[in-house]
Amino acid sequence: MSSAIERDWRALAQSLRIDGRAFIDGKRVDAHDGAVFADVSPADSRVLAHVSACSERDVQLAIAVARRCFDSGVWADASGRERKAVLQRWAQLVRESADELALLETLDVGKPIADTTAIDVPGTIYCLEWFAELADKRVDELVQIDKTQLGYVTREPVGVVAAIVPWNFPLQMAMWKIAPALAAGNSVVLKPSEKSPLTALRIADLARAAGLPDGVLNVLPGDGAVGQMLALHEDVDCVAFTGSTAVGKRVMECAARSNLKRVWLELGGKSPFIVMPDCPDIGHAARSAAAAIFYNAGQICTAASRLLIHTDIYDVFMQAMVDEARRFVPGDPLDIGTTMGAIVDEQHLRRVLGYIDVGRTEARLRCGGRRVRESSGGLFIEPTIFERPAATARIAREEIFGPVLTVFPFDHFDEAIALANSSDYGLGASVWTSNLRLAHEASRRLRAGMVWVNGHDDSGDMNMPFGGIAQSGNGRDNSVHALEKYTELKSTLLRLG
Ligand code: NDP
Repeated sequence: MSSAIERDWRALAQSLRIDGRAFIDGKRVDAHDGAVFADVSPADSRVLAHVSACSERDVQLAIAVARRCFDSGVWADASGRERKAVLQRWAQLVRESADELALLETLDVGKPIADTTAIDVPGTIYCLEWFAELADKRVDELVQIDKTQLGYVTREPVGVVAAIVPWNFPLQMAMWKIAPALAAGNSVVLKPSEKSPLTALRIADLARAAGLPDGVLNVLPGDGAVGQMLALHEDVDCVAFTGSTAVGKRVMECAARSNLKRVWLELGGKSPFIVMPDCPDIGHAARSAAAAIFYNAGQICTAASRLLIHTDIYDVFMQAMVDEARRFVPGDPLDIGTTMGAIVDEQHLRRVLGYIDVGRTEARLRCGGRRVRESSGGLFIEPTIFERPAATARIAREEIFGPVLTVFPFDHFDEAIALANSSDYGLGASVWTSNLRLAHEASRRLRAGMVWVNGHDDSGDMNMPFGGIAQSGNGRDNSVHALEKYTELKSTLLRLG
């Protein structure tokens, strides 16, 4: 990747040629009925492209293609080494297209270019390379029952996987599903969010160029109805979904109403960030707490949207938080110095501003609370902090998915744990302390799929499973455990006598 600081991103954006057609059976194709939707940038409300609006005929075609491809064995029966080689070539092509992909992502969802070049694209390549490496590392199990019986337990690809992903990390969320599913030998139909289809389509071109057989990966842009059709389809064997809890429940219902396809859900969160009085470094913790809620304009499932501060250090920590919040300044996402990007679309902007209005009645507004940069045509909200709402307040319980923080004081560790656990969600939680025993105890008692000690959302290492419990979903992305989601266990018993 060339140096992001030296690039003239605005000039590059002008020269970008965007193909918004669907990707089915290795080809770019228009939706069957020719329908398109306008893909609008939240950075300035500019129409970036007209993108295929897929509907039922396209869904039927993509699933039929994926099924045929799977049954042919062209990918499913290829050796692990062959699959690995293709996935590695694909990763190399993604690396060579890093600038283009970062730019597409920035334009499509309004993330700062500094973030897409440093985090989104490198994270996507890392994920793909990591699962490519695993493709030929599978060793199955042998069970020696007795002298006359030998058992073996093998893992087989599940078949056709539908991946339905959100708009907040379009490239990475897609790759977290596609890479393990393909490494395991499945065929995939990917549905990106209508708000962020561009990079998913582009990486499919690169997959084909890398030698992925036609039909193994298909990409269907379109609205939520496309996702629902995939979830209901009798010929889809598994649906891997990342998105809101409400839609996740509907996906599960669709599976139950159709063929009981396996369902993996990565859903919302309301993650607590607990600061004990023996927090090793208050400045560092406040910087991390601000990043944990204001990075990506708070549009992160693991956002630390509830900050719990011990009363002994409350005032000091709060002042540090307000200072750190000022570092997140909404600006033009194409400017390499911008630290905070846009809210993804008008509807979501209204939703977040609605929560801020509710917050004004439920708590004390400490800073922020306004829409800014309206004259740019873009959708921006400044970092916003509310103090001391009741634990039952809406802003304390509901996922806002924007740059809005709620802060609570507490007196005792037990009180902090109870407050942290008083949520329908259970995605991530962090605790800041110098006391190792307390850190272990917090990890054991916090109801969350991921616990971080003296950090928050340290989910950058592919070895660590990512996902939640309760209404934050089931299953895990990343790590070797993600491969298990896309394989079936088969037990074979050989009678030798
Ligand atoms: P949504 O649930 O609205 O959408 C997620 C995906 O589902 C999109 O592709 C959407 O399409 C599609 N979809 C919409 N309706 C249906 C339906 N009835 N059946 C099947 N698919 C459907 O979530 P958002 O895109 O708004 O993303 C934000 C949510 O995602 C937050 O709650 C966040 O916490 C969660 N998330 C969770 C993560 C995790 O790992 N736990 C990571 C990232 C986000 P379309 O957008 O075109 O309508």
